[in-house]
Amino acid sequence: MSLFPLINQDFNRKLLLNTLENDRVANAYLFYGPEGGGHEGFALEFTAMLNCTSSNERPCGKCPSCRKMKTLEHANLQLIFPMPIKKDTSSDNKPFKSLSQSEIAEIQNIIRKKAENPYEKISIPNAKHISINFIREIKRTIYLTSPEKGWKVVIVFDAHLMTEQASNAFLKILEEPPPKSVFILTSSNPSNLIPTIQSRCQPIYFPPLSLSSLESVLSSKGITESSRRLIISLSSGDLNQAIDLSETDLTKLKESTLEILRAIAVWNIEKIYKLIWPVQGKIISKFGTQKNPV
Ligand SMILES: [Zn+2]
Repeated sequence: MSLFPLINQDFNRKLLLNTLENDRVANAYLFYGPEGGGHEGFALEFTAMLNCTSSNERPCGKCPSCRKMKTLEHANLQLIFPMPIKKDTSSDNKPFKSLSQSEIAEIQNIIRKKAENPYEKISIPNAKHISINFIREIKRTIYLTSPEKGWKVVIVFDAHLMTEQASNAFLKILEEPPPKSVFILTSSNPSNLIPTIQSRCQPIYFPPLSLSSLESVLSSKGITESSRRLIISLSSGDLNQAIDLSETDLTKLKESTLEILRAIAVWNIEKIYKLIWPVQGKIISKFGTQKNPV
């Protein structure tokens, strides 16, 4: 069974189960592929497989470990993701110390959503990088004894957004990993990881979802056939994008696109700027800028 609502990727599921059954679990993995293909969700699923106590199918979804994993509240699981960088980067600064109660509540809410929909990105406002403080936090905790049996797993979402300092500190942990620990880095842009980290991880590629998978998800949401065709052609196998588009007024989207094309055809700069600027603003707020990590 699948603990999280994940689609397909049967080949990778079997591969991960085989490594577990043959006792060939690596210290570090790089789960990569285009956004919305499931590489982040399978990092969670593999953590559940590793810690499930069933002697039959893993994850079973019923044992105490699976129940805690289902809500991402397992003591053996540590999630790292981009957070807004605070000025204080001194070694004794615990990364969550400077957050307000409302910021912590917001992050908990985002993680709850991730547990419900593993395709949903963990997206914290103004978070563009993973700073060294979060890697120091791993170092502080990964060598301690866990209250739970099983594998300690650290998942670094969007690992390519680690700063240079964070990457170097993380590399040191990978060079001396504690026993019974697994690091799973996820990325849609793995070439931005430093080569020394890449070479220490076993890479597993998660391809975009097939057209038929997207087709059946959209059908189950009651989307008409003509809209499904348009959404699938625009979403490049990204489930998040397909769902976003399914909730968009497609007629309005088509009209706006035609209006932009007409303005480009007659090179009406003022109009092009007016039409494109709001779209660009949305893209930046969703994905951040393309600036290199500091
Ligand atoms: Zn289980």
